[in-house]
Formats: sequence, C-alpha cells, structure tokens
Amino acid sequence: MPTTQREKLIEALVDPEKTWDIVVVGGGATGLGTALDAASRGYKTLLLEQADYAKGTSSRSTKLVHGGVRYLAQGDIGLVREALYERGLLIKNAAHLVKNESFVIPNYKWWTGAFYTVGLTFYDLLAGKLSFGRSKHISKKETLSRLPGVQEKNLYGGVVYHDGQFDDARLAINLAQTCLEQGATVLNYFKVTGLLKEDGKITGVIAQDVEAGTIYQIKSRAVINATGVFVDDLLQIDEPHRKPLVRPSQGIHIVVDRSFMPGEDALMIPKTDDNRVLFAVPWHGKLLIGTTDTPINAHSLEPRALEEEIGFVMRNVSKYLTRPPERKDVLSIFAGLRPLAAPQEGSGGTKEISRRHKIIVSASGLITVTGGKWTTYRRMAQDTIKTAIETAKLNPRPCITNNLPIHGNKKEVDRTDHLYVYGSDRETLLDLIKENPEWAEKLHPRMENIKAEVIWAVRQEMARTVEDVLARRLTALFLDAKAAAEMAPVVASLLAGQLNKDNDWENRQIDEFIELAKGYLTQST
Ligand SMILES: Cc1cc2nc3c(=O)[nH]c(=O)nc-3n(C[C@H](O)[C@H](O)[C@H](O)COP(=O)(O)OP(=O)(O)OC[C@H]3O[C@@H](n4cnc5c(N)ncnc54)[C@H](O)[C@@H]3O)c2cc1C
Repeated sequence: MPTTQREKLIEALVDPEKTWDIVVVGGGATGLGTALDAASRGYKTLLLEQADYAKGTSSRSTKLVHGGVRYLAQGDIGLVREALYERGLLIKNAAHLVKNESFVIPNYKWWTGAFYTVGLTFYDLLAGKLSFGRSKHISKKETLSRLPGVQEKNLYGGVVYHDGQFDDARLAINLAQTCLEQGATVLNYFKVTGLLKEDGKITGVIAQDVEAGTIYQIKSRAVINATGVFVDDLLQIDEPHRKPLVRPSQGIHIVVDRSFMPGEDALMIPKTDDNRVLFAVPWHGKLLIGTTDTPINAHSLEPRALEEEIGFVMRNVSKYLTRPPERKDVLSIFAGLRPLAAPQEGSGGTKEISRRHKIIVSASGLITVTGGKWTTYRRMAQDTIKTAIETAKLNPRPCITNNLPIHGNKKEVDRTDHLYVYGSDRETLLDLIKENPEWAEKLHPRMENIKAEVIWAVRQEMARTVEDVLARRLTALFLDAKAAAEMAPVVASLLAGQLNKDNDWENRQIDEFIELAKGYLTQST
C-alpha cells in the first residue's frame, strides 16, 4: 500500500509548476470513481475533498447495489439495465463489501403475487448473465418464515427477488485507497475555493488545506466538479449568476434493532402512502428502514430529517410489522441529499426527475458530473473521463475499471466476524494487536469494534477526526448513535496518540462528536 500519510501526500502539491492531467473536486462516490478511472488509465490525477471521503451523500444511502425496481416500473429500462450490469461488476470487484441479498415483497392482495413475479422476472432477465438469482412466488407460510415479524392478517404470500447490498462509506474509503495504489494523490480536508483561468479557460484550482490553512495554486489540464449537491457552488464560481443545475431531494433512514424483523431477508414495501417504495434491510445486526424523497432548497453536509419524514417512515413500516417500532426504539436517524438535476420550469416533484447522470462542459472547460447513483459510479466515471479526454485534449487511453479489483476485494469472507468489511486487510489489521495487545479490547460493550480498528483507520484509511472513525470507518454513528457517542473518549485518546495531538484537541474532538451524535438521535428541526 502506498503512503497514506497526509504530510507526504501534500508534498505532491508543493511545486507550483507541476501540471496535473486531471483534478477531481469532491470525494464522494462520483469523485472517487472518477479519480480511480483517471489514475488507472495512467493520467496524473489529484482528488481533493473538503471534509472526509463520503461525508456527503455517499455515506447516507440505503446501501443497495441495485438496478432499481422502481425505475423499471417507471419504464426506464436503459437505466435499469446499465445499473444491473454495474451491480454485477461490483460484486466481482468489491466482493468483501457487496453481497447478494434476498428481498421479499409480502402480498396482501390476491393479484399482486403474479403481478410482481412477472415484473421481477423481467428485472432478472435484464441482468442477463450477471443475474443474482431468479425471482419467485412463495407461499404465505414461507413468507412468514422468511420475514418473521411481518403482519399475518390478510397475507396471501410473497415474492422473493435478489439485489445487492453493500457498505457505502467503507466502499468509498476502499476506493480512495485504490486511487492511491493506481498512482493518484487523494487528500481529504482540502477545499477547492477558486478556479485558475487563462483567457477564460480553466487551468487549475485554488485549494485550501482545511487543517493547516495553507492555500495552494494547483495547475491542471482538466478540472472535474464532482461535488454532489454542491456542484452549483463551483459552477457559480466559474459563471456567476448561472441558474442552478441541481435540486436536492432529501431521503432519510431510521435504524432499529434487528429483533423487529429478525430474519436474513429484507422487506420491500412496493407502495407506500405516497406511492414510493420502502425498504427494511438487515444491516450489521440492525434493521435499516427508508427512505423518503423530499425536495429541499438548501444543501448542507449535515442535513436533518424532517419530523414528517420520520413520521412517514415509522407509519409505513408499522403497517407491515406485528411489533411496530416506536420513537424510543430508534438507534440512529440520518438524512442524505440526492443530487438530482433541477426540474425544468413548470414540472413537478423530484420523483419524476431522472436518476440518470449528467455531464456538463462549461464554456471555460470545467466538467461537471452529477445525478446517478452509487451503483453506477463506475460508469459515471468512465463517461466523465471520456469527456475530459476530449475537452482537455489528453492523450486517449482506455478505461480499465471493469476488471479492476477494489482495495480489500476478497471472494470468501466470514460475515459472522464483524472484521469481514476489511476483506483482504483483516489479517494485517489483526497484526496490530502484536504491537500492542491492548488494541484487542472492545470499544463499547454493545458494539463489536475493537481498538485496533481505530489505529488502522488512522494509519491506513486517512481518518483525521473522531467523526471520521466512528461515522465512516466503523459505521457506529449510523448503527447506534448513543453507543457511538459513548465511544468518543476512547477513540479520541487513541487518535491523539497516533496523530500527536494535545489534550485540548482531544477534548474538542469529544465535545464536537457528542454534539453531532445528538443530531442522529433527535433529528427534528
Ligand atoms: C437517501 C438516499 C438513498 C440512496 N440510496 C441509494 C442506494 O441504495 N443505492 C444507490 O446506488 N444509490 C443510492 N443513493 C444515491 C447515491 O447515494 C448518490 O448518488 C451518491 O452517493 C452521490 O455521490 P456524489 O459523489 O455525487 O456526492 P457526495 O457523496 O455528496 O460527494 C460530494 C463531495 O464533494 C465534496 N465537496 C463539495 N464541495 C467541495 C469543494 N469546494 N472542495 C472539495 N470538496 C467538495 C463534499 O464534501 C462531498 O463529500 C441514495 C441517495 C440518497 C440521498
């Protein structure tokens, strides 16, 4: 593994005469995928993320690697086929993080069983050779045994289909590591604050090291704006008064104990009271339930769930469960913003806005990529780099990410051991315990995580703060916000030791994280 040390990585920026081929702004799924595509083609690539990798939308998804049954219902067959192909590549290239999950649609009307079986069989056929398994109709008895806890009254049977499930933030971290392995430089806590131009054409970016405050002028042949719901900020630096490209759509999730639906299968509710789909998916011993689709006018890195969204999710899932979760049962609530293309004047809500990605080249040559979904990040990246090659007249080189394993990729992992998410890194991580046997200790009685994971997060995964560790390396904040807050002091102390920080830093980190975690428990605004 090449160095992940911040000071060493920053050295690549010091020479003001150096010209990169491609600078990618934004370290979510889209930016990381784009940087990986560029670096693996052999271009000199730099990625800058203003906060932490996946701090934005990319850690707040439903964690599905899917074609999108809903888009099939909307008739967007091209989009579904493309996403199913990408699903097949992801389970091959990030096998440690992506798993084949069975979803059950319970049928409470006699005709829905046949209806969904036909539709989902078409979904399977679209996946072709990359199918995850055939959909089938199941009896009432089997539905109840596969979805223990689901309402029995008026149940006729169910339909099972297959899709992928993954860990979004962990995949982002592994993508950042793969970028480094492919020769890119990637830096978190580096904000792009301006654009360099000559004769109206982009020649690079101005960026600030958020930790040290230092400002850098960085030259590049191509600049890619992959900043999710923030794309308009950079577009307006480029062209003040430009009309917004993105209209954020908020989606929230609640996490409750697995005992509310203790089976291995996920529940798919095909029609909520606003005609959406809702999922309840087993996730690391918990149940992840969501999501919503609420147009929002502002964008932020820490969006908050609205009271009506929480009510909507609780009300709709409760109709299907014999023991409905109550507010006191909620372990974590989180919200994310979809970077959807803004509707044209006069059109309606966000459900109708295409989930396809968009690539826009401004008059200055700035390339903006937005929309799409996690599942299709690789394809988005391929299309974006193709555009960059044409726009910046780079020497053309072929895309190789179809067959490029992502850091940690390992076919056989033991999912009963929580360290499986580290894939091929698991053994090396455990070797840390030889350096200090204390690192074998657990961080919290309710959580499986051990101290060695914190050390690993700093040394190998570029974690800089308590939040980086507890939210996006260990996922604890999203699984159990109260436990995560209780873990903050020990994590802060381990981090301070590794990063040579003083007591003041440690205390500030604890306070800031505890404040943040409160927002994941009481998300009302
Ligand atoms: C509720 C919800 C559920 C979803 N579920 C699924 C799902 O199950 N499956 C699926 O495939 N997709 C899903 N998606 C879609 C998917 O999560 C998004 O399409 C994807 O994460 C978007 O990634 P991104 O990189 O474009 O944006 P982001 O992840 O938001 O990344 C943009 C990054 O740019 C950074 N940035 C902004 N400005 C600057 C700057 N000036 N300098 C440096 N960095 C900057 C931000 O800090 C941020 O980290 C879901 C989305 C939502 C909201």
